[in-house]
Amino acid sequence: MAGKYKVPRGTYDILPSESYKWQFITQKFREIAHLFNYREIITPIFESSGLFERSVGGNSDIVQKEMYKFKDKKGRQFALRPEGTAPVVRSYIENSLQMQPNASKLYYIAPMFRYDRPQKGRYRQFYQYGVENIGSENPAYDAEVIAMGYIFLEKLGLQNFSLEINSIGCSNCSQDYDKALIEYFSQYEAELCKDCRNRLQKNPKRVLDCKVPTCRKIAQNAPSMLDYLDEDCQNHFEKVQKYLQEMNIPFTVNPKIVRGLDYYTQTAFEFLNNNLGAQNAVCGGGRYNGLFQQLGGQNTPAIGFAGGMERLILSMENEGLSFGEEPHPQAFVVALGDEAKEFSLSLVHKLRNEKIATDTSYEKNSLKAQMKAADKSNALYCLILGDDELKTDTVTIKNMKTGEQKQIPLATLVQAIKQRTLV
Ligand code: ATP
Ligand code: MG
Repeated sequence: MAGKYKVPRGTYDILPSESYKWQFITQKFREIAHLFNYREIITPIFESSGLFERSVGGNSDIVQKEMYKFKDKKGRQFALRPEGTAPVVRSYIENSLQMQPNASKLYYIAPMFRYDRPQKGRYRQFYQYGVENIGSENPAYDAEVIAMGYIFLEKLGLQNFSLEINSIGCSNCSQDYDKALIEYFSQYEAELCKDCRNRLQKNPKRVLDCKVPTCRKIAQNAPSMLDYLDEDCQNHFEKVQKYLQEMNIPFTVNPKIVRGLDYYTQTAFEFLNNNLGAQNAVCGGGRYNGLFQQLGGQNTPAIGFAGGMERLILSMENEGLSFGEEPHPQAFVVALGDEAKEFSLSLVHKLRNEKIATDTSYEKNSLKAQMKAADKSNALYCLILGDDELKTDTVTIKNMKTGEQKQIPLATLVQAIKQRTLV
């Protein structure tokens, strides 16, 4: 049966058969975040569009092509958030979080919206997990944030991922570097795509991030940022590498990583999974020392990362990794006859009150249909109530895995389930 409406292009439903995977990953991410003493921050899914235009950058793909902009009834211009960092920084400044204890290490798990061309691993509504470490330019925090991403992927069991890092310097280093890039790319101007020709003068680093194959090829021999780092940025980058080595976190330096957002400075990094094809970036991040001031706040250095949930799940599925157990009831009550059915209502209620996950079927009557439902529910125990059980204040408890069954006093039921006396 086809309904009248379809899910919007580039979006999807997370169905019950999949949602436990999301729960598994988000729970693992929360555990890691708490292990590193990060706290959750939740911001609205829409913001003034100027926030992103100002931070992500007017020449970036996100702002140029991918933003879901709309006006509200009063004509205010909003955008569905395409990324999580700018909203966190907006909130940090607006709420003076620098005055609050424990507010400098923040994490989020949230949907993002980009008008991308939908394909495997690329959606118009997708989910990111991310962290922001705010208030210090100490390279130890760069290493900490990268370590957190690494440990997260490692603890999920992923084998096929690699870490690539780079430094894109600061505005001081960029002056000469941008000149060198403009000079280099100008030789090939006619071969660059239209977007790159447009951004070449305004923001030449964007050309390095272009996905068009001809631009990519030209970019391969472009001058390397690493040759243009000033002393501070070079020292910073060397320390980050040293700290990663000290933590035994394997990485390679890839001077081509520039990231698609304009606010980055110094450290930039990506976790890649090369089994994912074109959409191979599982998680990416970097330092953004200028963003707070750009958004009207005090000079506040910071570093963070964001990863895509969909690509992470794909990677885990590709490697046949476990998402834990699908949720299921511990007990399923099968009641035979009207009286037993009625009694089952209060029994189910009592078990749930005792924190025993329980289900039943009030609809189905025959023993066969109810046993089938119990089986499908994946419950560990089936609790059978018939005339005999009602008369004797007992219940028949059956272990669905072993088939073993016993008639026990109702009064001992909760204890029997909790202590798993029938295993
Ligand atoms: P890409 O180069 O693949 O477009 P990006 O540089 O735009 O990625 P970021 O803005 O750094 O990505 O976002 C961080 C992560 O979010 C990416 O590494 C990826 O895992 C995920 N991501 C980004 N865009 C999408 C999308 N449209 N659908 C699903 N996941 C996405
Ligand atoms: Mg993108």
